[in-house]
Amino acid sequence: MKYFPVFFNLEGQPVLVVGGGEVALRKLSLLQRAGARITLVAPEIAADIRERAADGALQLAQREFIASDLEGARLVIVATSRRDINHWIAELADARGIPVNVVDDREASRFIVPAIVDRDPVVVAISTGGTSPVLARRLRERLEALIPTRFGEFALWLRGLRETSMERLRDPQERRRFFETLVDGAAGKRFIDGDPGGAMRIAQRLLATTASAPHAVGEVALVGAGPGDPELLTLKALRALQDADVILHDRLVSRAILDLARRDATLIAVGKTAGCKSTSQQDINALLVEHARQGKRVVRLKGGDPFVFGRGGEELETLARAGIPFSVVPGITAALGVGAYAGIPLTHRDHAHSVTFVTGHADKDGREPDWAALGSPGATAVFYMGLARLSIIVQKLEEHGAPITLPAAVVTHGTLPNQRVITATLGTIVEAAGLAKLESPALLIIGEVVALQSTLAWFGSAAGADLTSTARGPIPSHR
Ligand code: SAH
Repeated sequence: MKYFPVFFNLEGQPVLVVGGGEVALRKLSLLQRAGARITLVAPEIAADIRERAADGALQLAQREFIASDLEGARLVIVATSRRDINHWIAELADARGIPVNVVDDREASRFIVPAIVDRDPVVVAISTGGTSPVLARRLRERLEALIPTRFGEFALWLRGLRETSMERLRDPQERRRFFETLVDGAAGKRFIDGDPGGAMRIAQRLLATTASAPHAVGEVALVGAGPGDPELLTLKALRALQDADVILHDRLVSRAILDLARRDATLIAVGKTAGCKSTSQQDINALLVEHARQGKRVVRLKGGDPFVFGRGGEELETLARAGIPFSVVPGITAALGVGAYAGIPLTHRDHAHSVTFVTGHADKDGREPDWAALGSPGATAVFYMGLARLSIIVQKLEEHGAPITLPAAVVTHGTLPNQRVITATLGTIVEAAGLAKLESPALLIIGEVVALQSTLAWFGSAAGADLTSTARGPIPSHR
């Protein structure tokens, strides 16, 4: 990240503006609203600016800039019409450690000024790091439409309720729930719709009932995070992440997904990655029970679907024994995500009438899967955790009669930008995978359907993309 986002308290602070034209004027309004004590230096000063100087918070100095103007300034904005002068002033300010912005000149600036959506005191600032003004503008338009006009007043109203809630609700978690119910529920809707009186009546009632309610019991949601692409989270999963106090996540769950969690949720990495020390299943179970008993909302976040090779069942058995309420949010399991993103339909009327999800791990009791069925033409087999034992799997399938011409694929990092798809046949897949130096996580898919991949691949290729359509951009349009 090249630019560090901050909101700067300029109330009563000296700010220097150099330049007296249209561009300087644009910056003045915002600085004035922030309560800055502004000095503006320029040999010529536009009439509109002069008018603003009447109120005293804006001092005008009609002359050329001199270096000593910088003394004491907290912030400098440079907006003369001369690029060389702008650069010179910017360098002087920078050398003195004063943050400086040259309007419309990112290179010469120490800080840049974001596009904003203004619902004072709620302000959304948007920066694309200078990469694309169009993108920033579009995003701003969408947010403008999305954030109700009364949002700022709503924020002030909520602040007004803070003190009362402090008196009535001692437990910070209870207070948080109270405010969440206000924001998400009927009170929030009333207020935004323009009925603050109605909103207040609901809030009062809520305050009374929350205070007398028995102490909240914790709960655990077992949540599937999908195969990798954060967009494949379900709405329920997203909500659970945003409501959680504690999140125990597998190491396979990506940063991008964890970034969607509530900011002050405690994140605990458990489970294993190849080669790293892992938290034992027993310890994970104990952590779940411990946090839930403290009355917290716990999310147990797992890659893919929690009930597919995820030990979700075992964890729930522990919770059931401990009498802790739980719920399950399914996720897109790796086989489904990978099938879709690699262009391999797992069933097909002409090629496969069944699909089997099977673990490539050796069974600890030495039980064997039905190798003959897995390798039979007309069926698809998807092996999870099979990369390390690829050659053994292939050997077993061949021993049980699978033809060496049967199509086979290994897909790593499915649904992610670094997804790789290696297609071959049963006879050649071990060598192909070895040459490609693949890494986990990887799925092995066996069956005739794999042959369709060459026609149906779309992710990471231009196939299926409409290059000129303006209807679907990366920023979803507002209804
Ligand atoms: N509960 C998970 C599976 C956990 S087992 C689910 O439903 O998907 C872990 C195995 O899942 C990995 O060894 C790998 O075989 C597979 N896997 C998970 N994510 C994957 C991905 N993005 N691409 C390919 N395979 C993946």
